Amino acid sequence: MSNTEPRKRKRNFAMLNREVIKPGYCVSCGGCEAVCPVYVISIEQLKPKLVGACISCGACVDICLRFKQKVEQPKYPADEIGPILEVYTGKTKDGDIHSRSQNGGIVTTLLLTAMKKGKIDSALVTGHGNDLLSPVPMLALSEFDIRKSSKSKYTLNPVLIKLPSIKLSNKKKVATVGLPCHNETLTNMMDMKNLGADFRVKYKIGLFCMSCYEPVAFRDIISKSLGISAPDLTKTDCARGKFFFEHPDGRIDIKIKECGGAKAEGCKYCQDFAAEFADLSIGNIGVDDDSNIILIRTEAGKELFEFALKDNLLDVKKIDEGKWEETLAPAVKLSSLKRKIAKALAPIESA
Ligand code: SF4
Ligand code: SF4
Ligand code: SF4
Repeated sequence: MSNTEPRKRKRNFAMLNREVIKPGYCVSCGGCEAVCPVYVISIEQLKPKLVGACISCGACVDICLRFKQKVEQPKYPADEIGPILEVYTGKTKDGDIHSRSQNGGIVTTLLLTAMKKGKIDSALVTGHGNDLLSPVPMLALSEFDIRKSSKSKYTLNPVLIKLPSIKLSNKKKVATVGLPCHNETLTNMMDMKNLGADFRVKYKIGLFCMSCYEPVAFRDIISKSLGISAPDLTKTDCARGKFFFEHPDGRIDIKIKECGGAKAEGCKYCQDFAAEFADLSIGNIGVDDDSNIILIRTEAGKELFEFALKDNLLDVKKIDEGKWEETLAPAVKLSSLKRKIAKALAPIESA
């Protein structure tokens, strides 16, 4: 290299820290901890920390969705929500799943059906810690584990830190459930054949997401505004611009916009509402509170959905392509709004 050529910066944790973590772009997806071959990244209090000697392999930089977005500066069309093969609306026919789940219970039904049929041997999901506002990443190995994970979570959750346990437990047919950001980092990992995710992950289920919250600040708002503490919650829901919380004495709600102060910093840069990198995306927008809208995006997503459909476990309606515009309008509107209010990521200093 001549003296006049700029020195290429090392792709290492320092670069990830400088470009993503320090400026507040990190969304605590957990991907960097999972891919580090020498185990020197640890997500602590939802922030990646270096806890040993980095060997500058570049893996954490390469798979991070925010780093990639900074390099590529992708253009997100305002009126589109990603590739779609089929659209359904409806809910599960299983009353027990429906009563435990948020909205239509479709995610839990798809996972349970695939596991019962031996189409998956595990599922990467988010369970609960001590209460419903404490998300805990887990690799579900049984139907019991899947049922336990069925309630919704609204705070940041590094679910991808559990990816190495797929390989360690020698699981080869995994379904993952994650937010749009989880699906994007996971897709980067699959493209790079990292952790065997490319052949172990069979189905990526994405959940619609407008934003996530910092756990401590979110609990504070719930406690101060509603006078209820997280351990008292028995069920949580989100629909029509509100969070609903059930507790032993009844049900209360709060407008989502009243929780804006707890919005996670990294989510302010997010432009993916409808989990565009998933095989199938599920949400509750433009449908009844107790139902889901399901966007089948890939052949894998179609296959997963059809396991439950063919066993008559779903009370769903297929939407004719001519009606997609009308059915999807509320989701497209929210997606466009998210893109409009998202802050821009500063371009990369030097990759
Ligand atoms: S966004 Fe994910 S991969 Fe990127 S730094 Fe944060 S936790 Fe790591
Ligand atoms: S060893 Fe590789 S993955 Fe681990 S921190 Fe360093 S660059 Fe990142
Ligand atoms: S708003 Fe975006 S970055 Fe934040 S949790 Fe949702 S998908 Fe992830």
